[in-house]
Amino acid sequence: MKSALLYLSTSEGFKNFLTKFKSFNQVTRRFVAGEEIATAIEAIKQLNAKQISATFDHLGESISAEAETREEVREYQRLIASIVAHSLDSNVSVKLTQLGLDIDKELCYQNTRAIVESALRYQNFVRIDMEDSTKTAATFDIFKRLRAEFDNVGIVVQAYLYRTATDIAELLPLGARIRLCKGAYKEPAEVAFPNKADVDQNYIKLMKMLLPSGLYHGIATHDPAMIEATKKFAVAQGITAEQFEFQMLYGVRRDLQEGLVQEGWRVRVYVPYGKFWYPYFMRRLAERPANIWFVLKNMMKG
Ligand SMILES: Cc1cc2nc3c(=O)[nH]c(=O)nc-3n(C[C@H](O)[C@H](O)[C@H](O)COP(=O)(O)OP(=O)(O)OC[C@H]3O[C@@H](n4cnc5c(N)ncnc54)[C@H](O)[C@@H]3O)c2cc1C
Repeated sequence: MKSALLYLSTSEGFKNFLTKFKSFNQVTRRFVAGEEIATAIEAIKQLNAKQISATFDHLGESISAEAETREEVREYQRLIASIVAHSLDSNVSVKLTQLGLDIDKELCYQNTRAIVESALRYQNFVRIDMEDSTKTAATFDIFKRLRAEFDNVGIVVQAYLYRTATDIAELLPLGARIRLCKGAYKEPAEVAFPNKADVDQNYIKLMKMLLPSGLYHGIATHDPAMIEATKKFAVAQGITAEQFEFQMLYGVRRDLQEGLVQEGWRVRVYVPYGKFWYPYFMRRLAERPANIWFVLKNMMKG
């Protein structure tokens, strides 16, 4: 089921079929904060009112036209200005294939640099998301070039990849602020653990590399076992709630998000918005079969 959904997340035909249903477009709103900046701003205001920080993500990936990548840069610059104008507690997350990685690495670097530089002007922070494993090396290359010049840029690592412990060992001496996630793409067994138990075990091992580093990292997961292990480790090591944050996705385990804040932990929610929501939405369905029933039930109602 998971593999089929990840496959369908790249199918234009299936997307066209689903979006014919008005009710399908409505249920996407559980995971995507609308198509425009204005709706995403409202979603972030509601999170901030609950003491939850946010990161804006303008949805888009695998862009193949240079002019469109430059439009993405302008959108992010508008976003950064909106964060200030609305006094939001939010930073931004970008995907490098949205900024030209599939076209030309230098173009991608220059585009990402322009966003990081704009963010610096407002003391804001840019997180570079990690995409599928064919992009990992190029993403680290661009991150390392930016990190040599800027403090306000961070990166993501994925616990399902065999290589990640080595990557973290290389990134920490650079002062890299890292988001640890399990990984969301369909990967071959040559590069990634096929079994969830191995991914989970690696996640805990990597979390234990990150937290004592003295750098401010993001522990991105909705998995109660990962969250418990993190809290337990932090308490045992004397790592305080101000030294790292939990991160979760918009619309996923809102009970956990609020519960952690009530316990005194920091939480940031990833708020995606934009017209190109389809692949992101399908990856969220693939993560949890119950979400498919949620969608089907609502489609039948419509
Ligand atoms: C802030 C943030 C940023 C991310 N950035 C990236 C990135 O840059 N690159 C990347 O590859 N991946 C990214 N991810 C996705 C991540 O890799 C996982 O695919 C996703 O978080 C699901 O894994 P999990 O840790 O929640 O654990 P899982 O083992 O998948 O899930 C554990 C439990 O969490 C709940 N849950 C998980 N997902 C859902 C869902 N979609 N709907 C409802 N309940 C759910 C369920 O209760 C489930 O039993 C990000 C995730 C977060 C939270």
